[in-house]
Amino acid sequence: MTEFRPFDSPIASEFSLEALPPGWVPGDRGRCRSCGASIVWCTRSGSTAPFDPDGRSHFASCPHSDYWRERKKAKREEAPR
Ligand SMILES: [Zn+2]
Repeated sequence: MTEFRPFDSPIASEFSLEALPPGWVPGDRGRCRSCGASIVWCTRSGSTAPFDPDGRSHFASCPHSDYWRERKKAKREEAPR
């Protein structure tokens, strides 16, 4: 039974961040704005991405991954042609 921890606590041991791909540095905990899952924001060379507790990219595992794809697509469409 895990105790509830507020989000401003240090990253809880439930997150196996050793499983993160090399180079990613764990930062703030948060929640996916799309599906509400607990995630950890990680940074690598100036880019930020959400990761699941098991170290997988949340971009890949989010049940609403269309949301992330659309965000990327929207960014691309902003660029001049
Ligand atoms: Zn999600």
